[in-house]
Amino acid sequence: FIQAQDGQTYRDWHLQRGLTPNLLERFFAPLALALDFTPVDQISAYPVLNVCSYFASAGKNSRVAFLDGPTATRLFEPIERFLELRGGTVRRSAPVVGLQVDERGMVRGVRTAAGDAVEADAVVLATPLHRTRELLPDRFRDAAGVRGIYGLTSAPVITAHLWFDRSIVGAGNIHFSPGSRVPVFAELSRVAPAFQPAGAGCFLEAVVAPADDLITADDSEIERVVLSDLRRLFPVTASATLLKSVYVRVPRSVYRAAPGSEALRPSTQTPVRGLLLAGDYVAGPIPSSMEAAVMSGTTAGRLAAQRD
Ligand SMILES: Cc1cc2nc3c(=O)[nH]c(=O)nc-3n(C[C@H](O)[C@H](O)[C@H](O)COP(=O)(O)OP(=O)(O)OC[C@H]3O[C@@H](n4cnc5c(N)ncnc54)[C@H](O)[C@@H]3O)c2cc1C
Repeated sequence: FIQAQDGQTYRDWHLQRGLTPNLLERFFAPLALALDFTPVDQISAYPVLNVCSYFASAGKNSRVAFLDGPTATRLFEPIERFLELRGGTVRRSAPVVGLQVDERGMVRGVRTAAGDAVEADAVVLATPLHRTRELLPDRFRDAAGVRGIYGLTSAPVITAHLWFDRSIVGAGNIHFSPGSRVPVFAELSRVAPAFQPAGAGCFLEAVVAPADDLITADDSEIERVVLSDLRRLFPVTASATLLKSVYVRVPRSVYRAAPGSEALRPSTQTPVRGLLLAGDYVAGPIPSSMEAAVMSGTTAGRLAAQRD
């Protein structure tokens, strides 16, 4: 049932079923922005219903967890160590610029920007959607199971990293705010001590979405929008001093889950021999997220190991 709702926006789905506009605006609008950085009148009903059903199906599914430090040390380095302990090699700063394809059309490896050729029995392209599109040789673009990725688009988003001289939110956990350009935020210094700045200050991270009209704006314009909303939500912001701010623009983040996108998500196994796809945009049971990416990577690894 849920997947069959992919043909319409969440807003239309919601209102057609007689659910209230208030519920749409106050609950589902910030949820959709947190989920896909996309407003309810543009996001498909499918990802919203999917995630609600997932949250409701077991108590632990709606638990929120934070990394207790920066991603580099708390996520990437442990993954790297895990791989190296099992005989893997991680090559950083070695962007892949092309696939090596033999005369029979089979993928045999990759080429890096430094000019190295890396041979492989199978290649799992785990790059973001837009990069995968660039890396696929032209002749594969019409292959069934792959061509859908040319119909998918990516949602822009900005994250605001703000250091204040005092607490703004006054509470830990993640917060959703309706009717705001900062639909989801957390005072990270309260949930993870590693983020606590010296003294009584706080470190607050906020998602700025939708970001389509702000993605090319300069920092001062983004800051104006963010602080105006924070002042409205937390009047203490007006008397706080913003000590430092960093705005990270991600013009092409997760795929935009517009109506009809589900059918465009490619499969892990491509019709191109030796080439598998992994990533949050690859077809799977849940919308784009870290969990979707991990599930997809696990499937790709299993299929690569089973290759003939
Ligand atoms: C602001 C923001 C907040 C988010 N919050 C959450 C959240 O709270 N929970 C959640 O589950 N998800 C969240 N997401 C979504 C989550 O980050 C993505 O769904 C997930 O990272 C996708 O993983 P991936 O492996 O498919 O792609 P990526 O994480 O994009 O990984 C792709 C990798 O490919 C590398 N790469 C790119 N080009 C090349 C190349 N040419 N050669 C070699 N490597 C290359 C990149 O450097 C990158 O490391 C958030 C996303 C954003 C932008």
